[in-house]
Amino acid sequence: VTAAPAPKRAAVVTVGTEITTGLMVDTNTSEIALALEGAGVRVVEAVSVGDDRGALASALRRLAASCDLVVVTGGLGPTHDDVTRHGASEAFGLPLIRDPALVAGLAPSAARHTDPRAAEQVYSQADVLEGARVLPAVKGTAPGQVVRVGDCTVALLPGPPREMRPLLASLVREWGAGAAAPAVLRCAAVTESDVQVAAQDVLDGRDDVEFTVLASPGDVRVVLHDRGIGAAALAVLADAVAERLGPVCYSRDGSTLAETVLRLARERGETIATAESCTGGLAAAALTAVPGASAVFLGSAVTYSDESKTALLAVEPGLLARFGAVSEEVARAMAEGARAAFGATRAVAVTGIAGPDGGTSDKPVGTVWFALADADGSGAEMRLMPGDRELVRVRSAVVALDLLRRRLAGL
Ligand code: ATP
Ligand code: MG
Repeated sequence: VTAAPAPKRAAVVTVGTEITTGLMVDTNTSEIALALEGAGVRVVEAVSVGDDRGALASALRRLAASCDLVVVTGGLGPTHDDVTRHGASEAFGLPLIRDPALVAGLAPSAARHTDPRAAEQVYSQADVLEGARVLPAVKGTAPGQVVRVGDCTVALLPGPPREMRPLLASLVREWGAGAAAPAVLRCAAVTESDVQVAAQDVLDGRDDVEFTVLASPGDVRVVLHDRGIGAAALAVLADAVAERLGPVCYSRDGSTLAETVLRLARERGETIATAESCTGGLAAAALTAVPGASAVFLGSAVTYSDESKTALLAVEPGLLARFGAVSEEVARAMAEGARAAFGATRAVAVTGIAGPDGGTSDKPVGTVWFALADADGSGAEMRLMPGDRELVRVRSAVVALDLLRRRLAGL
């Protein structure tokens, strides 16, 4: 048995003062890191450097000494602040050599300038590090380049995402270590630490899989990275983690909660509707974000006043007066009303106190009632949702969809 090769270690470097000053949000690092990780290359460092040749040169020298791959984006264009070529030249002691084929390709752009200094700037994009391979521009004018520096491969890619993307894709195909794409398990309405402990139970002591837990309000993801285990065994382990997580785990292929709800409804020949108060349509927004939702999602009523609950969902005024809008009785009446109004087989309703005002001693801020209605009737449950107004709203929408998901799945 031979040991699996160690995963390649990569660094991502973004270049641009617009990024280090916060004027521009860096999305390239995320795209590049996801693409590399997807190919089994491990990203160990990501840095941003301003348009400063010396600072870039020292970052590149350091990273090339400790990584197998360094991917640089930005600063390859024709303007004075584009320092990447010169920074790399300085870092690695490689002269820049003007490439005749690139010069010919840039001639039409250069010809559009009457000032010879502007034309010269266009041609500066034809300067290639000695020994580098040119990655011709697929979009735009700035070509990329790849050069071997000692044990490290350094790639320089343009900054604009649409120019960077096709060059990255071809590099990733070359660099793919044959590793499996990461497995992504998603969980709803559970804490990050519970998920962490469950995954740890299954994965403890393994060095051929690395896992990360990512949390956003109401939603937790476990990502399993192949560090030598291989695709088949990674899938088996992902299933074991999902088993250990139990019903909170709603997807093993990265699909979202809304996608899962829609898929389950479609498989069971059901249709769904929502009735929303404190979530203001967030559950419906999540469902309608999925292409093809119209096959099973019929509609939502955002009923934010007592009057609209009565007018649109036929909630009896007597229920509202007796129990209040945030109550088991009203939540159930809303779900039944939405089911009837939209002609759906199943409806979920949510009504709660998002705060910061409106709480009382028996119904504090965060009190949220959820109800499900189907052909057999309706049922409701109350959750006390932690967090501020925004968190209560977002988490409540997740819980509403999750209740629907569990019911559809028969859990
Ligand atoms: P160009 O030929 O367009 O000048 P370039 O390689 O010089 O290409 P930059 O000048 O660094 O690229 O950046 C051009 C534009 O690309 C930026 O203004 C920004 O809109 C986008 N961009 C650059 N870097 C990033 C990044 N890391 N994330 C997202 N967008 C970026
Ligand atoms: Mg530029």
